[in-house]
Amino acid sequence: MSNFNILVVEDEDAIRGMLMMVLNQAGFTPFEAADAEDAQKQLDTRSHDLILLDWMLPGISGAEWARRLKKEPVYKDIPIILLTARGEEEDKVRGLEIGADDYMTKPFSPKELIARIRAVLRRSGKIQGQVQIILGDLTLDIEQHRLTIGDQQLDVSPTEFRLMHFFMMHPDKVYTRTQLLDQVWGRSVYIEERTIDVHIRRLRKILEEYGREELVQTVRGFGYRFSLVD
Ligand code: CA
Repeated sequence: MSNFNILVVEDEDAIRGMLMMVLNQAGFTPFEAADAEDAQKQLDTRSHDLILLDWMLPGISGAEWARRLKKEPVYKDIPIILLTARGEEEDKVRGLEIGADDYMTKPFSPKELIARIRAVLRRSGKIQGQVQIILGDLTLDIEQHRLTIGDQQLDVSPTEFRLMHFFMMHPDKVYTRTQLLDQVWGRSVYIEERTIDVHIRRLRKILEEYGREELVQTVRGFGYRFSLVD
């Protein structure tokens, strides 16, 4: 599974811990919050691909927070899966009315959870039907989170993987640092533009080991371009 940031909002430590573990094992990048206030803070500092949201939370309820998010242009497109306790049938209906993308009744199996998450990501267009991007001798496997040159697998971090994913989807185009920030890191993340240079440098260093550092080109005074052509 590709590098998806998933925010887990659940006040019960044991359940939250279990969810974090299951998501980690499935290859997602989970973040945790015990209430809506903390979740909101996290949403403001980094981009998320999906929210797993407990219906009953202390303070602002999961339902209320979901309703607020669905009204905000910046956040309304983040898919939400509501987690409800057994017997809260009415909540499910209300949850879907609010705009939640799916709901699950506790307890559920890890397998079911992962399947639902993938289905929601797919529906929301975050996972395209495409599993691999192949460019020349480069293959980026989105499901397996793997980047290979020929039959050699490259050791890239999640951020570099995301960067490569973006580059391989948009070869031969020049992007400014600001555009890369928006497209790869998400608009709600605050990082400095020079951080991009650091990641580009690291990526080049890895590519260099395979004699392919020319793939990521600096366009002076503008930004970067990924190209198989020198
Ligand atoms: Ca709860």
